[in-house]
Amino acid sequence: MSASFDSSVPEWLAPEPRPRVYIETYGCQMNERDSHALLHHLAERGYERAATPHEADVLLLNTCSVRDHAEQKVYSTLGRFREIKQERPGVVIGVGGCVAQQVGESLFKRAPYLDLVFGTHHLGEVPGLIERAARERGSRPTALSFERTWQTVLGDHEAPDPGGVRAFVAVQRGCDRFCTFCIVPFTQGRELSRPSASVLDEVRRLAARGVKEVTLIGQNITSYGRKDPSEPDLGELLRRVHAVEGVERIRFLTSHPAEVNESLIAAFRDLERLAAHLHLPVQSGADTVLARMRRGHTRREYVELIELVRAARPEIAITTDLIAGFPGESESEFEATLSLVREVGFDNAFCFSYSPRPGTRALKLEESPDEATRADRLARLLAVQAEVRAERNQRWVGQEIAVLVERDNPRRAGEVEGRSPSLHPVHFAGRIDELRGTMVRVRVERAGAHALAGSPA
Ligand code: SF4
Repeated sequence: MSASFDSSVPEWLAPEPRPRVYIETYGCQMNERDSHALLHHLAERGYERAATPHEADVLLLNTCSVRDHAEQKVYSTLGRFREIKQERPGVVIGVGGCVAQQVGESLFKRAPYLDLVFGTHHLGEVPGLIERAARERGSRPTALSFERTWQTVLGDHEAPDPGGVRAFVAVQRGCDRFCTFCIVPFTQGRELSRPSASVLDEVRRLAARGVKEVTLIGQNITSYGRKDPSEPDLGELLRRVHAVEGVERIRFLTSHPAEVNESLIAAFRDLERLAAHLHLPVQSGADTVLARMRRGHTRREYVELIELVRAARPEIAITTDLIAGFPGESESEFEATLSLVREVGFDNAFCFSYSPRPGTRALKLEESPDEATRADRLARLLAVQAEVRAERNQRWVGQEIAVLVERDNPRRAGEVEGRSPSLHPVHFAGRIDELRGTMVRVRVERAGAHALAGSPA
């Protein structure tokens, strides 16, 4: 099967009016990027982007199944799409992404009005699937196998955005770690890295188009290059991206603590344009829970790693993911997570209540705490993290930071908004037509719960 998007205009498309496509996207940056790429390539084939599902001829849903809530949202959105199809039976409805990969063809049973289903490794085939579904009504085409080449999974899926200041670059997909709560290895397949030459080509093209900040993304990006000795590891890949002229800031997501190596720590020490921000999910502060999650490291090892990273880059912002109410979590295990939040001093944390996921090993562990306990622990965790974040944010007051300006401040006229290296929104007086896409040094004067404010230095 071909990896690339075919840009020839399909014969079933009447030249006027152009068919309109609407995509609704749930979940992570990889999904956002995939949807963006898909829209771009559909546009090359003659489609127009519809702003609402009611205006569209093709309705696509790019789904997330990392939590049960996200999965349920898919079914309620499909219910909305069904109403549109009842009014206009010619509409084509497709579901892709992680739920499609996980549930597969049985989605047709749950939603008989659905026309096509595509998995996480088949982005390039979606235009062809849409055309087949439109031409042969009731054919219900699917593409769900796990392809094993980077071209199919990651290649030729660039997501151009000529006006964009920031862009995501997919460099890795899938995961071999099988943490016991996580569905990613089942929905995204095994780890696959994109060759560095292809990554660098895309970064160069983005820089030439005026993109200032690139975020390299992968489900387990710290595994980058592991399966091919001729390829660099993540630290070395970052060095090569850093050498591309025009790229003013580099980020990467998402890392695993057991895989952060010396090369990556050295990159933080040496590379000025590598943003001083590390998102390093820890999930729990209790060794016993980390073992049940099969995370492959202890609390002490995590804390020591943070110390090494901070020694290499003292101003670095550390963010994390945390789960409250994992199966068998006792009150004292939960309190260990609260104490870790205080000990590390996370700049931010994405906190979730445990969500059982089909096929994962955690389902075979002890019962998870009841819903009320999980909700109570999540609320306590969020409160402690908010306290720690507010305290951490104060450290920026009086500092000069580099802000990449992106848009008007949506809340205050006469101000612009940009992002700091730590990903905080930063506001200061200025005109967006003059400042968009520029890196401005700002002296921080105030720090709120989520944003910073100051004046150009
Ligand atoms: S390392 Fe991350 S993506 Fe991989 S199984 Fe664990 S939580 Fe999921």
